[in-house]
Amino acid sequence: MRKLIVMLLCLGLLSGLALAFDPQPGADGVGDPYYPAIGNGGYDVQHYTLDLTWDKSSSAIAGTVVLEAVATQDLSAFNLDFWGFTVSHVLVNDIAATFKRTESEMTIIPAEPLMADSTFTVAVTYSGVPGEDVPEDVRIFGQGWVQYDGGVFVASEPNGAAFWYPVNDHPQDKAAYTFRITVPNPYVVAANGLLLETIDNGDTSTYVWETNYPVASYLVTVNIGQFIAQNQTGPDGLPIRNYFPAAFFTNGITTFHRTSEMIELFSELFAPYPFEAYGVAVAAAPLPFALETQTLSLFGTGIFTTNRPGGADSVIAHELAHMWFGDSVSPETWQDIWLNEGFATYASWLWFEHDGGVAVLESIVRDSYAQFAQPSEILIGNPSPERLFDGAVYVRGALTLHALRVKVGDEAFFTIMRTYYDRYQYGTASIADFIAVAEEISGQDLSAFFDGWLYQLAIPAISEMGLQPGV
Ligand SMILES: [Zn+2]
Repeated sequence: MRKLIVMLLCLGLLSGLALAFDPQPGADGVGDPYYPAIGNGGYDVQHYTLDLTWDKSSSAIAGTVVLEAVATQDLSAFNLDFWGFTVSHVLVNDIAATFKRTESEMTIIPAEPLMADSTFTVAVTYSGVPGEDVPEDVRIFGQGWVQYDGGVFVASEPNGAAFWYPVNDHPQDKAAYTFRITVPNPYVVAANGLLLETIDNGDTSTYVWETNYPVASYLVTVNIGQFIAQNQTGPDGLPIRNYFPAAFFTNGITTFHRTSEMIELFSELFAPYPFEAYGVAVAAAPLPFALETQTLSLFGTGIFTTNRPGGADSVIAHELAHMWFGDSVSPETWQDIWLNEGFATYASWLWFEHDGGVAVLESIVRDSYAQFAQPSEILIGNPSPERLFDGAVYVRGALTLHALRVKVGDEAFFTIMRTYYDRYQYGTASIADFIAVAEEISGQDLSAFFDGWLYQLAIPAISEMGLQPGV
């Protein structure tokens, strides 16, 4: 009898489960206010393997990308973000799946629906020229995979990862990565994480790179060039590997020689360095930007001749500081870009304060305030997708942090920075999350303060320093 009851109970549970299984398509976006189409719902990617071969003469790439993901709902279908290319086939759990494509969205319909909480794999095999089918108005900032005379660089912020591999393209779904990139000799590949292996195939070589830390897709990088590597050891044994074009190797060593000291400073101010390695890749082209690609920031040769205030160190410190603010703590949505750019800019000012003393910081603050004393054209806390990288987000954004520092005092300010970092590391945070930490640590109501700095065009005074807006 007891056995029978147990059996009936089990049957009841099973039928209950069967009834509850209700596969639906995953959402085609994560609800980002600036980029509604990027990212997707219904699953959480754990790991990507990018196995790609680069053909220099045709500029094409070909290969297979494998995702390991966990379903967050019962799924009848799900989307990846992916522009262009010819997709030859898609497998889900090693079984052929059907797929449909419209612009950025690839909808995959597995042969069998997927159960919530189950782990599954997706393999997408494709070939083509990266970026070829991406309209100009979609490529406002992110370029994705770019081939130039000296090789390839990748610069994807905010939406360019989907221009070269199938991806859940939003910082809310970070994942670990393995790269197997095959290039003609004598080209060298530098990607995120650590170089595990170089396989000599005769005319080509396959570089195997891996990172076990979560990476937001816009920070994924592959650099191909005729590089010479410089290997160093930073604080606490941290590997620092820099990749310089052969013709710029000496400039590279000289220009980036203070990286280790900068890592030491930011580790003391914020938290220990977040990842397994750091370094830079310098593309043999004068890029009009630098980018904080995770563990391996990207620069162009312009870094060797910059005449901006603070020189190369201001950019080098800025990109390094992004490893904490931007890469480890990433924006919850792209509207939260101040948490990246204002923070990295202020961190570079902290480097100059450390290096030159408090008078140097004070003069940077005064010059920057004078430069931004008129009302901004954009709101720092909501700059619009078209003005995502407006100078005000950087400079007035950094002034916002300095104004907070003089308002709450050094001890509370640095506790706020450390607590905010510690709470959101390896994930994402919103501006509201930062404000909540600042109020919690300082014990002050800061709503009017942040409203003035982030959500009004007129710049507030920093009365502690006698700084008043211009008229
Ligand atoms: Zn930046």
